[in-house]
Amino acid sequence: MDVRTILVTGGAGFIGANLVRLLVLEKGLRVINVDKLTYAGNLRSLDELAGHPDHLFVRADIGDAAAMARVLAEHRPDAIMHLAAESHVDRSIDGPAAFIETNIVGTFRLLAATLDYYRKLPASRAERFRFLHVSTDEVYGSLAAGAEAFTEASPYDPHSPYSASKAASDHLVRAWCHTYGLPVLITNSSNNYGPYQFPEKLVPVVLIRALEGREIPVYGSGEHVRDWLHVRDHAEALWTVLGRGRAGETYNIGGHNELRNLDLVRLLCSIFDELRPSPDGKPHADRIRHVADRPGHDLRYAIDLRKMRDELGWEPAEDAATGFRKTVEWYLGNEDWWRGILSGGYRLERLGAGGAV
Ligand code: NAD
Repeated sequence: MDVRTILVTGGAGFIGANLVRLLVLEKGLRVINVDKLTYAGNLRSLDELAGHPDHLFVRADIGDAAAMARVLAEHRPDAIMHLAAESHVDRSIDGPAAFIETNIVGTFRLLAATLDYYRKLPASRAERFRFLHVSTDEVYGSLAAGAEAFTEASPYDPHSPYSASKAASDHLVRAWCHTYGLPVLITNSSNNYGPYQFPEKLVPVVLIRALEGREIPVYGSGEHVRDWLHVRDHAEALWTVLGRGRAGETYNIGGHNELRNLDLVRLLCSIFDELRPSPDGKPHADRIRHVADRPGHDLRYAIDLRKMRDELGWEPAEDAATGFRKTVEWYLGNEDWWRGILSGGYRLERLGAGGAV
């Protein structure tokens, strides 16, 4: 697809910042990065792009219809990649309102502004225009141990306010395709990890706690199984779907890395033992503590990748051993980045159980 300018929403967040860097620095595209800069948005994740002529940051709320219409009219993107969302399950349990507002109402307003823009495009540009909606495998609910992995045909069964709000947004996006003919693509991915992840999610929580010699919390028994996708693989997958996916289709994106939470935490601790041994010489895993489980915690998510592989020729490049090691190295080499967040009034203690998947 001939794409030059992409509007990315949520490009100052974890996945967004990794995606924007890939698009600008490696794919040679111009990116209009629209982000409200909630607690999760961090322009320091985009330092590498400072002053780059192909990266334009616009601070705006996707729910602000007038602002979105202005941005679209002014920058005339060839495609939209929609990542802006409230994304943390624990926060959705404590305060669901922001999730309804941004993930559902915000997506609706963005769709309305996009449809208006799309309808005014000349035919040659409308033909190649795409709206890619980035969503989660959590919309499919929980799998029993040994059950078949989620496919694009799996029924929706979301359990948390976060996953319910994402499910609602997926349905809205599909409705805008079926009812109004907006050419959309939807992706549902598994848990991401990698550089620039906000230190409230499981992987950075474990790394920072290990580095500081503190207790490492694991929800419940730690039996919960998640599939782990390196954020760079995710960004490449999104670019692949945008370029080669069929309008109206859904694509599941996974990392081929199913791990029990406890095994993941142990793996991270063992990488740490090698790269940054505890001062007392004890294994970091000795400080793992089981804490009260999250309410309604889904047992297992797993992704069937066949459609991405067979139709679009995409597969994840990182496996658990290489991907998590690189991630530990990144957090060790970029203390300034995450310490900046922690010192900005944000405290891991606010999370209670510490870390979420
Ligand atoms: P994140 O919380 O790190 O970043 C979200 C970004 O959206 C932030 O920069 C925030 O400032 C911005 N934002 C929030 N509300 C906004 C609004 N109303 N208007 C404009 N900007 C707003 O999230 P993430 O982990 O990077 O996830 C990005 C997307 O990918 C989300 O849609 C999420 O549901 C989806 N997803 C995430 C994962 C994961 O493991 N992190 C997995 C699957 C899908």
